[in-house]
Amino acid sequence: MTVSMLDGYSGLRGKRALITGGTSGIGLGVATRLKTLGADVVINSHESPAQVAAVLEQVNTLEGPEMVFAPADMSDHSSFDDLLGAIGAVDILVNNVGIQHVQAIADFPDEKWQQILNINLSSAFYLTKRVLPAMQSRNWGRIINVASAHGLVASPFKSAYVAAKHGILGLTKATALEHAEHGITCNAICPGYVWTPLVEQQLADQCKVHGMSEQDVIQNIMLQPQPTKKFVQIEEVAELAGFLCGDLARSITGTSLSIDGGWTAG
Ligand code: NAD
Repeated sequence: MTVSMLDGYSGLRGKRALITGGTSGIGLGVATRLKTLGADVVINSHESPAQVAAVLEQVNTLEGPEMVFAPADMSDHSSFDDLLGAIGAVDILVNNVGIQHVQAIADFPDEKWQQILNINLSSAFYLTKRVLPAMQSRNWGRIINVASAHGLVASPFKSAYVAAKHGILGLTKATALEHAEHGITCNAICPGYVWTPLVEQQLADQCKVHGMSEQDVIQNIMLQPQPTKKFVQIEEVAELAGFLCGDLARSITGTSLSIDGGWTAG
């Protein structure tokens, strides 16, 4: 092995990355890792610039090009042309945005189903479609879809989320096959439970539908299916995403990579 063989892993200089839902949790972790690998990173959310100013200020104390913010609501694709026009050609797209709603199917609000499909699944299609032409013209691109263990297996009370995450694995495969000859890879990362605001915010609803205390939900619902009995750390997901962006991952495409403490092995 030569040093130049390893350069592909650390060199994202000159690559522009867009991370949807990048101001918190896993998205911010991935954004931070890509920045330290040298990428020009744009993080998106539906928040205002003032709301994310402190996050940006903190992350920009780290090494790497300055990270910037591009607001857009991922439930409404009518703004995506303007969003991408303002950003410029994207080399790395991380479709990370995701929301959750925990309720039995019989009571699940129709508008919540639609909102989750729009944000967790359709935004990935609409953005992928728009960034691909420029990737094709440069013969290089990386698309990472942050799916979930719930892209591979279901849990009760999460119908829309599970459906969207299973769907994004299909989109991942189709995208990979259509662009395999153009130096563009598309893969899905399937984390188990990672302690982020998304998980914290669903605790109350999980307690309600399961009739359990918070501690019981954490032990018996969240960590029970993960044989490690530990939450996955944001940094672990971020490192995997960084690897997938490198040239040494050029032959990994159309697949889903589980990072779930063994959950889906059983
Ligand atoms: P999070 O709640 O910490 O972050 C979600 C991000 O999305 C935030 O930046 C938020 O501002 C943004 N966002 C929410 N609604 C938006 C909208 N309409 N338009 C634009 N941005 C919006 O969540 P997280 O836990 O970091 O989850 C990130 C991804 O990882 C999601 O796709 C989630 O399904 C997936 N995931 C999370 C876990 C977990 O245990 N946390 C496990 C598996 C998969």
